[in-house]
This record gives sequence, C-alpha cells and structure tokens, in this order.
Amino acid sequence: MFKSAIFNLQEASRDQVQEFLNSFDTVLSDCDGVLWINNNAIPGSAEAMNYFRKLGKKIFYVTNNSTKTRSEFAIKAQQLGFIAEPEEILSTAYLVAHYLKGIGFRKKVYLIGSSGIADELKAVGIRHIGIGPDNVKPDFKSMTTAELDPEVGAVVVGFDEHVSYPKFMKAASYLANEECLFVATNTDERFPKSSSIIIPGTGTLVRAVETCSERKALVLGKPNDYVRKFLESFGFDPTRTLMIGDRCNTDIEFGIRCGFQTLLVKTGVTSEKDLERMRIERRPPVPDVILPKLGDILNLTSS
Ligand SMILES: [Mg+2]
Repeated sequence: MFKSAIFNLQEASRDQVQEFLNSFDTVLSDCDGVLWINNNAIPGSAEAMNYFRKLGKKIFYVTNNSTKTRSEFAIKAQQLGFIAEPEEILSTAYLVAHYLKGIGFRKKVYLIGSSGIADELKAVGIRHIGIGPDNVKPDFKSMTTAELDPEVGAVVVGFDEHVSYPKFMKAASYLANEECLFVATNTDERFPKSSSIIIPGTGTLVRAVETCSERKALVLGKPNDYVRKFLESFGFDPTRTLMIGDRCNTDIEFGIRCGFQTLLVKTGVTSEKDLERMRIERRPPVPDVILPKLGDILNLTSS
C-alpha cells in the first residue's frame, strides 16, 4: 500500500495503520539492529514482535549472522523477551546446512566459520574441517598438498574470528578444483555499530576468498532469495509478507527481490543521513515504510 514510498508510519492515520497491519500475514524480521544490538534488546522490539504474533501473524527471524545455531538464537531471543522457537529462526548457519543437505552433498566441508555453522552441519550429518585457529607459521608459503584433505568437496565461508592467511591458502587451493562447491553465508560489510569501533563483517572474508580463488561464491543470506525458496514449503503468500530490516542493501533489497512489503527501522546500519539521500535520489532499494524503531508501532495502535 505504500510501495517504495519511504513513508513514515508515524504520519499515517489510524485507519492507514490498521490497513497496513491487515495487509500482511507473515512477518520476517532481521535481528541485529532491529531487535537487538549485541546482547541488548532494542526497547519495544520484543513487545512489537510479540504483538504481531498476538494478531495471528506467522513470525520468522531472518538473520545473516552465522555464529549461532537456530537453538542458540532462539534462547538468546527468549532471554531478551521475544517469543521464539528454533523452527522460526532462519540463520545463515542453518541455511548452509539445509542447502547442502538438499542437494545431497556427501563429501566434507572446509569451513571458514564458527561453531554455529559447524553444529548445524553436524546436525544434518555433514562432516567438516577447518574450524578454530590455523596460525601462520614462519614458512607458511611452503604449504604442500599433503595439508589438503582429498575428501573436501565444498568450501563454506561465514564469520570466523580466527581467519588467517593459511585458511585463505587452503580455501583457494580447494577451490582450484572446479568441482569443489563455494558457498558463503552473507556479504555484510560490517556489524551494526554500538561504538566507534568498526567490526568487519563476513563480506570481508567472502570477498577475500573470492579474490584469491578467482571464483564467485553462492551466497545464501540476504539479499539472496534462498529464504523465499525455503519458505515456499510453508505455503506463504509473498505479497502478504512484511520484511523488517535496518539495512537497505541486504534486508530491504531482499524484501523487494522476494515481492514482500518492507519496513526499515533506524536503530541499525541505515542512518537518517542515508534516508535523506534516498528520499532525494530515489535510488533503489528503498523501503515502503519507515519507523524510528520497531517498538514505535505499538504507540500507533494503542492511541
Ligand atoms: Mg541488521
């Protein structure tokens, strides 16, 4: 109803807000920057998500964050006040495991990533190596093929705080075999900021492996529409689905590609300055509606 309008819902009439709330049955929400930042809930977000559920909406938490399993995310969400079940969490760690299982992958994964992906792979019976530190030795350039596992048939790249030069060497060497699959969780440049320190995101690692392997990764996280394919098994209607995000080039782009309605909140990556530029330039991807924070929706319905 507000297609690409960047319309501030706070300026809508009560009837328009009601019409908006009636226009979707499924709510997909990004997590970091919309619901919480690090381990702190954004005020009002839990109440808003729980309110959508009370209205009978189907809820999914869709996060590019690959560091946790679905169960771990559900526990985190619950601890921060959200009603959430593991089945409602669509994290990229889970999507990687779901994808590889779906194509009947039986070989081993070389993983640049963390325990979230490792545990999800294990849960679907896929073997993996590579997790944890792989420190640089003084003679690292003399690595031989003896250090490569012939059973590896896929390289998966997600967030890995232990990323190192030997890991890039191994990933690129496995990927020199054209039959080796190359899958990445997401290409986010940075984590949402809670201070002036920049935390490089998984995109930093994916681009590095793409560069040294001279190949392009299949990226399963937003804005790729793999989640939509995944949700089709639930028989949902894309036109009656709302995607909530804090970031235009992942969340909103994803929503537009999938034919969803989109709501951008200003508690994460996309700033007021970015929004001003969007209003002037009208350059896609622009959201349908915006709110300063997700919890503000409650003030519009209870007045
Ligand atoms: Mg976010």
